[in-house]
Amino acid sequence: MDWDEFATWGAKAADWGKEYHQNLRDRPVRSQVALNDTLNALPKTAPESAETMADIMADFENIVMPGITHWQHPRFFAYFPSNAAPASILAEFLTSIVAPQCMLWQTSPAATEMEIRMMQWLRQGIGLPDTFSGVIQDSASSATLAAVLVMRERAVNWEGNVKGLSHFAPLRIYCSDQVHTSIDRAIWVAGIGQDNLVKISTSGPMKAMDSSALQAVIDADRAAGYLPAGIIAATGATGMGACDDLNAIADISEREGLYTHLDAAWAGTAMICPEFRTMWEGVERFDSVVFNPHKWLGAQFDCAAHFLRDPDALRQTLAIRPEYLRTHGTEDVTDFSEWSVPLGRRFRALKLWFVMRNYGMEGLRSRIRNHVKWSQAFCNRLRQHDDFEIITNPILSLWTFRMKGAGDVDSLNQKLVDAINDDGEIYITQTFVDGQKVIRFQAGQFDCEERDFDAAYDAITRIAAKIT
Ligand SMILES: *Cc1c(COP(=O)(O)O)cnc(C)c1O
Repeated sequence: MDWDEFATWGAKAADWGKEYHQNLRDRPVRSQVALNDTLNALPKTAPESAETMADIMADFENIVMPGITHWQHPRFFAYFPSNAAPASILAEFLTSIVAPQCMLWQTSPAATEMEIRMMQWLRQGIGLPDTFSGVIQDSASSATLAAVLVMRERAVNWEGNVKGLSHFAPLRIYCSDQVHTSIDRAIWVAGIGQDNLVKISTSGPMKAMDSSALQAVIDADRAAGYLPAGIIAATGATGMGACDDLNAIADISEREGLYTHLDAAWAGTAMICPEFRTMWEGVERFDSVVFNPHKWLGAQFDCAAHFLRDPDALRQTLAIRPEYLRTHGTEDVTDFSEWSVPLGRRFRALKLWFVMRNYGMEGLRSRIRNHVKWSQAFCNRLRQHDDFEIITNPILSLWTFRMKGAGDVDSLNQKLVDAINDDGEIYITQTFVDGQKVIRFQAGQFDCEERDFDAAYDAITRIAAKIT
């Protein structure tokens, strides 16, 4: 393909994107293909001679699209949102044209300085004080891994990277029983071991970590010769949106000298609305905070905003400077590759710049507020229906419910979820709350409208009436 042909197909791709989004409601939300349908439609080996773009695009439509689950569908109510606002897509298009590697300041000064400024915009946007500096990680999982590595190195006097962990007492890290699996995996990868991730029980409507249990476990661990290293808290955990009491945790971490990390991957975006910040009161006392603009803010995957009170601790943990990575004469520049596990970095700040400018913070806030308002209204509507019970009340736009029934109610609800997703009108998923299977509902797709919640009510009640 030459660049003239690129321009032709680039314009066609933009037209295709417009059609796709304008007619998305006509497609089933969850892909309806069977296992290996796509695999079997793809030739077993690569072509020896060049094929035309027209053929490739036709196969994209015929082979790929049926196997796509539409995360940008306005009736996507499963998992958490993964928004790609049009302004963000254009920024990513430009980024992939220029394709800069943004590991060091000198490998693209604009990318580093744009990232510094965008992290300041976001920090102010979510109401964090200027004691925090920000870096964009590829995902919340990577930010959490980076935080766990800092916990580890700090606890062993920055010697773990050199000596390994066998020289030290087993480290301990604490979190609630509601946290995301990315925390478990960070503990595995950091070499700390699942047995040393201590999960504290939760209680109350927000399922917050029990702070007296936390203190008791830390005391017992110290007495038994373990090395407590850090606490990971959640604001808006994945299952039902659990929120820890950050001030209660900070009281303990400050007394015990432990490093604190907050996983607000989903809910962090909502903090651009000041009225929701009561959910994370005390956040300014944490050492590290992550949230994903790639979920609810509209900057498409990947884009995780990681804020740190002491970036030097992260650099001390992760920075390696062989000669070929030095920038001579400018030793105090920011080289963001020293703030993350991977060396190579994409220019992710550009899409934040496009999105925040194109919507304005007020435009973004009104979207979040609508999602929360419509989701809560829908919850109240379903609450009135005799066949359903609300299991956990909305935390922002996330809540859980269950179809009532006799006998094996868990299976009944799984059957309902499967039937709804096979139908395709909406997409939802299940989770466990206190050992019982429940149906999880969240809203946050950028283009959803009030009528999509009516469609959800109709789909759920219509399909439930046919299930026994
Ligand atoms: C989505 C999510 C994650 C994982 O985010 P990635 O960016 O995919 O790594 C972690 N924690 C919570 C609470 C989440 O909602």
